[in-house]
Amino acid sequence: MKGLEGCEITTPGYAVEYAYLSPLQLNVFLEHRSIKGLFFAGQVAGSNGYEEAAALGLMAGINAALRARGKEMLVLDRTQAYIGVLIDDFTCKEQKEPYRMLTSRDEYRLALRHDNADRQLAEIGHKLGLISREQVERIKEKHARVTFQHEMCTEESGELR
Ligand SMILES: Cc1cc2nc3c(=O)[nH]c(=O)nc-3n(C[C@H](O)[C@H](O)[C@H](O)COP(=O)(O)OP(=O)(O)OC[C@H]3O[C@@H](n4cnc5c(N)ncnc54)[C@H](O)[C@@H]3O)c2cc1C
Repeated sequence: MKGLEGCEITTPGYAVEYAYLSPLQLNVFLEHRSIKGLFFAGQVAGSNGYEEAAALGLMAGINAALRARGKEMLVLDRTQAYIGVLIDDFTCKEQKEPYRMLTSRDEYRLALRHDNADRQLAEIGHKLGLISREQVERIKEKHARVTFQHEMCTEESGELR
């Protein structure tokens, strides 16, 4: 690059340098494995991105509240949500660089979609007090209509064959 002919890169790096905790020190609830009641999320725990920080923060916050109330803590499965993939990768596999959530990391990526996330998570949201029973029923009704339409289309295309 013109003007930088005499420069030498000693340490390649991106923007800001910061210390972080290895996410392997956290359990699947995002609680420190040896310090009970201490939860971590975001870049201090080795993620890199707004969405990752938000997702981890949401889950760490939910679990801190559930623990404080003496209730069973929440784990989302890899088959249920990208958050499940993120936390499973994050807390169980060694990361060589700050973690970013990519669709390619998810073996269930064809099944996990924004248009069915409500069906996957509505009951959990209700159990946590985030959505009402009426909202859950509306979501179920919507997906029943989708299934009905899908079956109708399948039957019709079968007749055409
Ligand atoms: C230049 C740059 C560009 C980026 N671009 C993108 C992008 O395009 N897309 C993307 O997804 N991500 C991007 N990121 C990454 C993203 O910003 C971070 O991953 C995300 O903001 C991390 O969120 P966080 O809540 O973990 O940490 P932070 O957002 O850093 O929040 C930590 C907070 O803790 C506060 N704090 C620190 N110490 C103390 C203390 N002792 N007491 C009280 N408060 C304290 C800080 O003031 C800060 O508000 C970028 C980052 C940088 C630096």
